[in-house]
Amino acid sequence: MNGSFHLRAKNLSLLSKWWWRYKLEPNALWRKVIHSLYGEDGGLGLNSDERRFSPTWKQINKCGLEIDKMGIPFTASISRKVGNGNELLFWFDKWLPNLNYNLKGLFLRLFTLENTKDATVSERVNNSSCGLEGNWCWSSRIRGRLCSELQELEALLSAATHLSTLLDSWKWDLSTTGKFSVKRLSSLCDHVMLGSNLVPGSLSSCWVPSIPKKVNIFIWKICMNRILTLHNLEFRGVALLTVGCPLCDRVDEDVEHLFSNCSLSNPIWRGFISWWGITSPLPSGILNIINSPCFKLGYDDLNKLCLAA
Ligand SMILES: [Zn+2]
Repeated sequence: MNGSFHLRAKNLSLLSKWWWRYKLEPNALWRKVIHSLYGEDGGLGLNSDERRFSPTWKQINKCGLEIDKMGIPFTASISRKVGNGNELLFWFDKWLPNLNYNLKGLFLRLFTLENTKDATVSERVNNSSCGLEGNWCWSSRIRGRLCSELQELEALLSAATHLSTLLDSWKWDLSTTGKFSVKRLSSLCDHVMLGSNLVPGSLSSCWVPSIPKKVNIFIWKICMNRILTLHNLEFRGVALLTVGCPLCDRVDEDVEHLFSNCSLSNPIWRGFISWWGITSPLPSGILNIINSPCFKLGYDDLNKLCLAA
């Protein structure tokens, strides 16, 4: 029963895959077009106001930022896995582990003195007994305040891992395999959107991981008023002879009536109250019933509800 059931989570994850593909397909025509239109990294991660994105690319960009806002560090999760350093650009690529900046951005003044702006990592560093050491090629002597900047840069390099004989590649930090997975990202988004860490009493807090997902979905649909009652069908433009409740024929069949007030469903709730030994009165309205503390709709009670259904 694992997997994503929140459509928004699935949608976000599918769109996010383009972030991954953008990195992994540097020679694809579509990628070259995006790069020429929106610049470095295809503008991904930037506020849409900073680039005139097409509507589709805007959505793709926005989804990454939206996932970040959910507390999942997606935009920083695609990073370079350094191999031999032959493909990575020392100043432009974000190749140092756990550093979400390129070295040009961090050491701009040193970069201006660089002789070969597009030098690769393997051209600029060598393995040493402690991390990496610089193999510099400056256009003029480093002096004054730049000396301390160079020391900082060298300190960063000395903390980095060694170059290997493998090819440089990309990795996705939110997965143990290092490969992007729609399923994994959906699961992370699901956990935030539907998990138990949501605000108590909110509509989404009716999601209980331990009970069957179809039951969770059904309760969620009740909360969202997405059940196809006669009232909702008519609201969607379906031509009906009547929207009156076919069970009691007294009032319109809407969610509130069908699950709470109907002369057929109401006694069922009263039966539950009696069964569970609850002394407080039945709350008015299905949303109040679902969120009612007196029903303690936690794991155990909802399981009872499932068993009884
Ligand atoms: Zn009725």
